Amino acid sequence: MILPFVAAGASVGTAVGTLAWGAYSPTSRLFGAVIGRGPTTGRSLYLTFDDGPRPGVTDRILETLAREGVPATFFLVGAAVRHHPAIAHRVAGAGHEIGNHTRSHRKLHRLGREAIRAEIVGGHQDIVEVTGEVPRAFRAPHGYRNPFVGRVTRRLRYCTIGWTFGVWDSDRPPAEEIRRRVRAKLRPGAIILLHDGDGYDPGGSNPRGDRTPTAEALPGIIADARAAGYDFHPLAELY
Ligand SMILES: [Zn+2]
Repeated sequence: MILPFVAAGASVGTAVGTLAWGAYSPTSRLFGAVIGRGPTTGRSLYLTFDDGPRPGVTDRILETLAREGVPATFFLVGAAVRHHPAIAHRVAGAGHEIGNHTRSHRKLHRLGREAIRAEIVGGHQDIVEVTGEVPRAFRAPHGYRNPFVGRVTRRLRYCTIGWTFGVWDSDRPPAEEIRRRVRAKLRPGAIILLHDGDGYDPGGSNPRGDRTPTAEALPGIIADARAAGYDFHPLAELY
């Protein structure tokens, strides 16, 4: 008599575990297709920067990318785009891809359909109105999703992007440490997650949102990758 209950309990536990994994894993396909890595043959890498634009950081990253001839994708927060339209323009003008990282960086897995729609459509509108670019790539804040996220992104014909590795640069370790962490994790086809802003500080006034160490690390990151035989490709090649 006890057995069916045990079996049912185990199956519910597994389902809950699977749903939690789907909500928190940046590359889980449970809530729709996600690109988390490029081809593992060859030596391609894909640079992505989240949570900008932010004055003094995004500009500096753009300078490095221009000097080195490296493409990147910037997953911009709509509210930050409104605060810093000139920098958002500069990102687009430099030919880098702009992705949608929602309007105000809320954690989507806990929101209902309408709130999720407002975040994603709002970020889309902010980017289109300010930069003139129509974003095709979407990345959820922290990678957190639920079934409603996929429904909204599919309707807007977004491609959802995860990442292969991050290096916790938002904790602002020293630039040399950020560089070392990236070097240690490099692998073919990696989509690299870095940050040029703070999703919860769109105005850019909180010093804790400063991502200058990431900007300082970038020349070394590029040099290390090239020395190891890698080259950088536009993320848009993957979809
Ligand atoms: Zn973010």
